[in-house]
This record gives sequence, structure tokens and C-alpha cells, in this order.
Amino acid sequence: MNFFRLLAGFVLFLLPFDAQMETARPIYSSAKIKTVVIDAGHGGKDSGSQGTVSKEKTIALKIALQVGKYIQENMPDVKVIYTRSGDKFIPLYERAEIANRSQADVFISIHCNSLPPKKSNINGTETYVMGLHSTEENLSVAKRENEVILLEDNYSKHYQGYNPNSPEAHIMLSMYRNAYLDQSILLAEKMEHQFKNKAKRSSRGVKQAGFVVLKATAMPAVLVETGFLSNKEEEAYLNSEKGQSYMASSIYRAFREYRDAVEQGAKSKEIKTLPAVKNTQDVYYKILLSSSTQRINTNSSAWKVVKELELVPVKNGYQYLSERCKSYNAALQRQSFYRKNGFPDANIIAFNGSKRIALSRAKELLGE
Ligand SMILES: [Zn+2]
Repeated sequence: MNFFRLLAGFVLFLLPFDAQMETARPIYSSAKIKTVVIDAGHGGKDSGSQGTVSKEKTIALKIALQVGKYIQENMPDVKVIYTRSGDKFIPLYERAEIANRSQADVFISIHCNSLPPKKSNINGTETYVMGLHSTEENLSVAKRENEVILLEDNYSKHYQGYNPNSPEAHIMLSMYRNAYLDQSILLAEKMEHQFKNKAKRSSRGVKQAGFVVLKATAMPAVLVETGFLSNKEEEAYLNSEKGQSYMASSIYRAFREYRDAVEQGAKSKEIKTLPAVKNTQDVYYKILLSSSTQRINTNSSAWKVVKELELVPVKNGYQYLSERCKSYNAALQRQSFYRKNGFPDANIIAFNGSKRIALSRAKELLGE
């Protein structure tokens, strides 16, 4: 399968170990893709990257509108929602809220990349999913895209004090593991495949980093960097009608393939039942510390006792999970610790990869 081979090519060494394990499982969850949110990056007072002759916000919007048009023309049963359809400033949290409110099945954020003049020779596409960054380059792309929030009024209120200028804050952000990582990677891979093979662009691959806009979306979400405005030729390409329509149709085709894969996968019976797991390296327990409908402030001292807090967006809000435990006994000890330290409702839950499984199944797989 193409997907896994390509992933082995670019993603494996970029992704943290957890994510590597996760790519080896079936990916399908919801049966129908009914709504897609297309997010043209930046807008209004926020121009995004500046090329010699163009601005990121303008190109992103043109491509975004064209993607939406292709979807509307060819998939009448899919609802397209734009976060902006004109030159308007939209805060990052609002972009995510638009997607969450409309219960979108997919979120696609469209951007253009940029590097300092010294690196103006670099070109190519990149598609990001939420996750641990592994290179300085990924970090700087995310930092640049997140800096937008400094232009927002009251930004600290909306992002729990997250400061895009602080490298530590960025690393913390990237550690929130999106519950939809599998699907996001599948979609991202299809994007890069289209850019490379249909639009004949140079693909820099699927990457992970901490993006504010991706973190807050409760659905599979990708952020596409369509090319570098700091590269003269690529800027000209992205400004041309041909370039924009090639990029837009690549994104559309990737979305279409993704939809087909998810919907066919959901239809097939085999995929609904968990396959037998041969290696049990990816079976583990976590402590479900708390659930909430609104995001709660986890910067407060009560949360300091939690080793590796994981926030998981669920249908009606959020779940807050502890670090992994490798055995049921270890999980029992951690549960008792958390119950004594401010989380009286702490409960043990089990996973296979990022999929929730029954405790009894986990014990069986681990031979406990
Ligand atoms: Zn951008």
C-alpha cells in the first residue's frame, strides 16, 4: 500500500515513536464526511508571509476558494464552510471554533511558507499535522503561523497564557496529542502525494508541529504550506492562475481520496472489528482524570501533579488523561495516587494505539 510505503519514506523519522506505532492501524472512525471547513490562512491586518510581489493571505484565499468550488461542483453532498471568504482578520481560536461549532468532519488550513533570504533557494510543499515537532525547521514554521495571535485582542485569554515567542510554550503545545492523528496523517499524506505526482511540485513531506489552529480543532485537521514565497519561482507559480488551480485541484483530489477511504473503510465489516494485535507494544493504560464540556485551565497548581497531561477533544468537550502505564498494576497505583491528589474520580482506561479498548481486552492482550 502506497500510504504505508510513502509514510515509511518521509514520516517515520520525523514522527515521535508513539505516532509511528499509530500509523500501523486502521484509520477509520466516522462513516460519512458531510462537512469540510476550508481555512484560508491569515487575512485583514495579518498578511502572513510576504513575497516580492505578493502576500500569503491573498494566495491562500484564492486557493481556498477554488478548493471549495471544486468540492461544491463535484461533491454536492458535502457542505463547504469557509472560515473567511474575503480579506478579513479572523483570530485562530475562532477559526477552530467555526469548525467545531459546525461539527465539521475535516479541517484544511491553507498557507504559504517563507524563509529568510539566505535560504531563498528552498522550495516545495509541506503538510503539517498536530504533534511533536522534531526539527528546528518545523518549529519555526509553527512559530510563524502561531505568532498571528499576537495581533489578536486579549490573546492570553483565549490561549491559556500561551506565548508564541516562548520556545517552551511551543514544545508544550506540540505535546497535546490530537485524538485524530491517524486520520490527519492519512489526509496529509494524500495531499503531499497529489502535490508531488499530480501538480509535479517538490514535496517536502508530511510533518508534525504544534499549531494553535490545529490543536483547537476537534476533527482530523491538516495545515498545508503550498510553497515558499521566499523563492522567486515558487512565488511566481503560486501567483499564476495555473499554479493556483493545480494546487487547489491537488487539495481537492486529496480530500476526495480521503473521503473515499474513510467511507469505504467504514462500510467494510472487517474494519469495524479490531484486528487481532500481534505485537502488544502499543497496548497501555491511562488514567482518565477528568472530563469537561469547556476547556479548563490546566496551568493551575492542581494539575502540576500530572506527569504527562494529554488533552483529548471528544464529542461533547474534553477529556484529560495521565501518562501511560504499561501494566494494570502500575495503572492501579497511579489511579490511587491521582485519587489522593485532587482527582477523586480518576479512572483507569485502556488503549491500543490511540484507540480506546476495554480493560478486559487490554489485560488479555498483555497477558495480565
Ligand atoms: Zn500562514
